[in-house]
Amino acid sequence: FSQHPQKSMKTIGIIGGMSPESTVVYYQTINREINRRLGGNRSADIVLHSVDFEQIVALQKAGDWAAAAACLSESAQKLERIGADVLLLATNTMHKVADEIQAAVQVPLLHLVDATAEAVKAQGLATVGLLGTQFTMSDGFYSRRMQRQGVRTLVPSETQRAEIHRVIFDELCLGRFEAEAKAYYLDVIEDLRTQGAEGVILGCTEIGLLLKPEDCALPLFDSAEIHAHSAVDFVLQC
Ligand code: GLU
Repeated sequence: FSQHPQKSMKTIGIIGGMSPESTVVYYQTINREINRRLGGNRSADIVLHSVDFEQIVALQKAGDWAAAAACLSESAQKLERIGADVLLLATNTMHKVADEIQAAVQVPLLHLVDATAEAVKAQGLATVGLLGTQFTMSDGFYSRRMQRQGVRTLVPSETQRAEIHRVIFDELCLGRFEAEAKAYYLDVIEDLRTQGAEGVILGCTEIGLLLKPEDCALPLFDSAEIHAHSAVDFVLQC
């Protein structure tokens, strides 16, 4: 009580729940990093809106990206209204509609693909494997944005993409992290390495819960962690 009150920090808004498993990673990473940098009992100023993931999954399956964009824009506006100064959309896949969400609010939406590309370039790498949902690996929105940043992405074969996608929705998003899935992902990474990948983007926010850097000889770029760190950098620069 004798201390002066700390200067207040900017508020981070998280559009989460896609899935809830990885939103936990964002919350924990941001708070731990703020504390590591500022010490004491400092923690982040966060507002979270966690959606019902089933609704988003249904819209993805229906290919109704406009409805998904509208739903997440509403979420972004809610967070802005209650004081968020900056927003994170805590999923790779839904960055397919990031521009629409950004257009619905005044505050900046920190783009996951840009933050991840920066992290890859900071390690001096130019060609990396990309693991994520079918939408992320096959649709083109992700690799085009990476390419604009000077990062070339390699994706697994069609059969491998289908299994990676299945594991994400049937296991990882439900909090199941099985040895078999881990072995499969590591085999896919080995294939990507032989094709020229110098590192691998964990381009789905749950994959970092299955694979750890020590599991793999190639550098892994965990999109959830990188994205969370970008928000910490943002608020500490303000
Ligand atoms: N969390 C995953 C991602 O980063 C998949 C969930 C979703 O489809 O939003 O892409």
